Amino acid sequence: MNIALFGGTFDPIHRGHVIVARAAAVKFQLKQVWFIPADIPPHKQKTPILSFYHRYTMVALALVGEKGFVPSLLEAPDPATGGSQRKPSYSIDTVRRVKAMLGKSDHLYFLIGMDAFKDIAKWHEAEALLGECDFIVAARPGYSLADVASSLPPKLRPAAAVTKLFRKQKMEGPLVLPGATLHMLPKTHENVSATQIRTAVERGGALRRLVPDPVAEYIHKEQLYRNAASARR
Ligand code: ATP
Repeated sequence: MNIALFGGTFDPIHRGHVIVARAAAVKFQLKQVWFIPADIPPHKQKTPILSFYHRYTMVALALVGEKGFVPSLLEAPDPATGGSQRKPSYSIDTVRRVKAMLGKSDHLYFLIGMDAFKDIAKWHEAEALLGECDFIVAARPGYSLADVASSLPPKLRPAAAVTKLFRKQKMEGPLVLPGATLHMLPKTHENVSATQIRTAVERGGALRRLVPDPVAEYIHKEQLYRNAASARR
């Protein structure tokens, strides 16, 4: 069975996330996509974000009726410590835990948008992570195959002369390198971001086009993102 892990802050989950996961599921015959909100996203430790529980609830609401899409608690706060000793949620740890649970016939992918992938070299144990499973990189406007190649950690990066050849190439793949296999997902034309949603709420804008309806209702009912500039934890 093909399974993809889709990690993120999901503050909040939006239609772009769901559409990209649907496109990946079709293209790579994914039977399941696990949406994994991070308790403490390592790259957003200084940014105020909503509590894990609000973000997880919105993920669960957005996925109702989406066949094979699973809201995951893999990066939830540790109940054993009552959330008092919180550590950043590293993808390498999550991927290793999942691989230990899977069977021999399962194939694991890691789904990621190009805007996040461009920082992959800075991730905790980036080289090891890229070697643990295949990646599906979702194109975002303005990125080429050269951007994918040059975002890799130095040891995995193809030679500069090769990357140069990719400069004019659209994000189409796969890119099979020693130590990393990267599949490309073409642009899904869904240019929404969580930042856009938080700003829309602050300005009193409509959310229905940006997030699934139950998520819009939850944001409204819980009065979330009313003052996105203030601490939200
Ligand atoms: P923010 O605007 O707060 O940075 P975001 O919309 O990028 O948030 P995240 O939760 O940070 O949402 O993203 C989780 C994953 O989803 C990342 O890999 C990101 O690249 C990807 N992603 C987010 N929005 C889209 C989109 N519209 N199309 C494709 N991938 C996306």
